[in-house]
Amino acid sequence: GATIGILGGGQLGRMLSVAAARLGYRCHVYDPGTNPPAGDVCAQVTSAPWEDEAALRAFAASVDVITFEFENVPTATLDLLEAARPIRPDRRALAVSQDRLTEKQFLRDLGLTTAPFAPVSDADTLEQAVAQIGTPAILKTRRMGYDGKGQARIMAAEDAPAALAAMAGADAILEGFVNFSLEVSVIAARGLDGRVAAYDPGENLHEDGILRQTTVPARLTGSQRADAVLLAGRILNALEYVGVLGVELFVTPQGLVVNEIAPRVHNSGHWTQNGCVVDQFEQHIRAITGLPLGDGGRHADVIMENLIGNDMDRVPELLGARDVALHLYGKPERREGRKMGHVNRIVAQG
Ligand code: ATP
Ligand code: MG
Ligand code: MG
Repeated sequence: GATIGILGGGQLGRMLSVAAARLGYRCHVYDPGTNPPAGDVCAQVTSAPWEDEAALRAFAASVDVITFEFENVPTATLDLLEAARPIRPDRRALAVSQDRLTEKQFLRDLGLTTAPFAPVSDADTLEQAVAQIGTPAILKTRRMGYDGKGQARIMAAEDAPAALAAMAGADAILEGFVNFSLEVSVIAARGLDGRVAAYDPGENLHEDGILRQTTVPARLTGSQRADAVLLAGRILNALEYVGVLGVELFVTPQGLVVNEIAPRVHNSGHWTQNGCVVDQFEQHIRAITGLPLGDGGRHADVIMENLIGNDMDRVPELLGARDVALHLYGKPERREGRKMGHVNRIVAQG
């Protein structure tokens, strides 16, 4: 069988490796950290910095196709790898999603709705942005933010200096606050042949900026559900995307607002592991290796709950619970805010 190279060895890389193994593939993970969670389950791990050209060349030479679980791989690293092996999804998807400003412009150009936004690089541009967008608003770093990190709320104009200071000099984007009734996400895939498959949208609950829980089915009307899936398809087709994509949406009375896209398997798609015959990890491996996509149909109603930090104390109880599938990431140290695992609770047959 072929070997799949995965950039990033966190829990997503780990679950991708397991899915790849089930289809008879080997995985080689490249991660700058030592002992990444994916290392336990894949055939080969390279622990080297993103700048190590020799290590990158050796990695590329050992694999047939490259994918990633981490969208912030530096551009120079991607240039070097791309010259040797196909990267799927490709550079366009990465370029669009590495920078919140590029991302929002791309979505808007596609005719989709986003929060109002304006670029911010200093006190003057922030003042203009606040005047244009109003408050409440959220200032976010353009790059590298995740789990709500690199964000500051601006409830009134006088909060602006503190919010700017929180960006620590990084380029930022000011977003108008969206008054949503619900947050949902669509996990969808596009194959090498251009076919698209989408999972049922999940309803997401965040706590302190971190995903806490995803429930399927989401509380959406039929037309909202169709809108959500169709807009994900538009994004996939516009990017000629290959692989699994996560699209985070706000549901408002005026329609769906796109928050952000993730060019990879997504935490809010973990429910598919126990709610679908072909889960998002297998779907991604199928897509990038040119296999036909799985159907994406759902056979159960599921609540996925993340196990964060001290939630790990609940593991013994969860092991004894009926209809609960436990997924642990094998991370040695628990830390506050650190995702240690998740559970999928089957609540009804779909
Ligand atoms: P992720 O871990 O999902 O990548 P992130 O750090 O990229 O997170 P966002 O998804 O932009 O952060 O924001 C985290 C959460 O904050 C959102 O899911 C939503 O609940 C809230 N939020 C973000 N932007 C807005 C907005 N413009 N209006 C209202 N709420 C928002
Ligand atoms: Mg994000
Ligand atoms: Mg998000």
